[in-house]
Amino acid sequence: MEPAPFFVASRPATGEGELTVHHPYDGRPVGRTTVATPDQVDAAVAAAAGVAAQAAALPAHARAAALDHVSRRLAERAGEIAALITAENGKPLKWARAEVGRAVSTFRWAAEEARRFSGELQRLDTDPAAGGRIALVRRVPRGPVLGITPFNFPLNLVAHKVAPAVAVGAPIIVKPAPATPLSALLLGELLAETDLPAGMFSVLPLPNDRAADLVTDPRLPVVSFTGSGPVGAAIRRAAPEKHVTLELGGNAAAVLCADWTTDEDLDFAAQRIATFANYQAGQSCIAVQRVYVHHARYADFLPRLVAAVRGLRTGDPASDLTDVGPMVSEDAARRVETWVAEAVSAGGTVEVGGLRDGATYPPTVLTGVPANAKVVAEEVFGPVLVVAPVADDQAAFAAVNDSAYGLQAGVFTRRLDVAFAAARALEVGGVIVGDVPSYRADQMPYGGVKGSGVGREGLRSAMDDYTEPRVMVLTGL
Ligand code: NAD
Repeated sequence: MEPAPFFVASRPATGEGELTVHHPYDGRPVGRTTVATPDQVDAAVAAAAGVAAQAAALPAHARAAALDHVSRRLAERAGEIAALITAENGKPLKWARAEVGRAVSTFRWAAEEARRFSGELQRLDTDPAAGGRIALVRRVPRGPVLGITPFNFPLNLVAHKVAPAVAVGAPIIVKPAPATPLSALLLGELLAETDLPAGMFSVLPLPNDRAADLVTDPRLPVVSFTGSGPVGAAIRRAAPEKHVTLELGGNAAAVLCADWTTDEDLDFAAQRIATFANYQAGQSCIAVQRVYVHHARYADFLPRLVAAVRGLRTGDPASDLTDVGPMVSEDAARRVETWVAEAVSAGGTVEVGGLRDGATYPPTVLTGVPANAKVVAEEVFGPVLVVAPVADDQAAFAAVNDSAYGLQAGVFTRRLDVAFAAARALEVGGVIVGDVPSYRADQMPYGGVKGSGVGREGLRSAMDDYTEPRVMVLTGL
């Protein structure tokens, strides 16, 4: 197996050592790459800084053409790329296909936004002293972006950083997760096919300590990080003078409100919650982890949820029949096993679950778990759901807020007043009404409050993030 090249200043490169990528399901090697040397990292950063002015001046049609090209090529190679995502990440093929579909749409939407991104004209004559003046507010790139990404969406989370950077004309250096670099390298291949100026992008496989050095490099004024809370906090501390966006973890909750009562309602919520608690073996920052159910329907809802979870098929992620594949590693599955055991010793009951098999952890539903157990209070990032009855909607919202995190929440209601009350009460970045918290469209502002992060992604939000306003006041009009 030849090592896959990474990209230094838009050109394929080979570095030192070896980074072998293993299939989480059975541990077999599925690809190799190498680690960028210090000289290569320096060349990538110098090229990004050197091309920044040229990149910022790229016309909209050129930026849009590059983005459209990547979108088209992702679509053409969708089957192969989905198989690669499954091989390196272990997520079931159907979810890998969905991930490629989202990346196709992210790049297409970014091309459209690149054509639209124009700034604004602001009148200043609201004050008599400013008569005859008008302000032209344009957004200019802050400079090269460092994008650091986690393992759980190895293509899409890279796309969320690369597409808006290209859309605004900012060079970008991507540091993919060590467990799943191959999809990012493939994206580098597609970017290399475009006419973007050399140096506009680099994709550098690096161990964590070398990534930390990049975070403090003054030539990279913007850091866009998606990953775990402790690493995000360390990045913020290390680079207080930089523009840092943090997309961190969560322990997302769903609420079944007092009006969500019919058998059809309960069946629908049970199916959605079972699916989106377990859809990538729970390894999504907005996977459902906590469920609060109005007490009047709790006894009817729980067996439906347990049945829906029991109906999920666990197994080889390459099979189209598989709903739940392995976690990213056996260590990750062992951690979840320990947390569930702790919850049980604290009084919790396993309603459905089973034994860990290597990296595969069975979808599990727990009840009667105290609020301070790790499976409730921390981010489980595994296929585990905790369900509890609540007295009323207000109590449910309070329980959702009783968390160090606040990414998204799902509120099952049909009442508009309840939906608005939830949107007012819940301390989260987004409230999904009538569905699970796990919904995300890549153009909408996305991000969290409290321990879930700082700033927002989503194409337009990231484009704003990578740029700053530059005002030109025209006088004498
Ligand atoms: P992680 O924090 O361990 O790693 C993320 C990235 O940071 C990797 O590329 C890693 O190599 C790099 N890294 C690690 N230490 C570093 C350091 N000191 N300096 C610079 N870079 C460093 O996260 P993970 O385990 O890969 O991913 C899971 C986490 O990501 C979960 O907490 C999940 O909730 C979060 N996540 C958040 C979102 C979101 O949009 N909010 C989306 C997906 C995942």
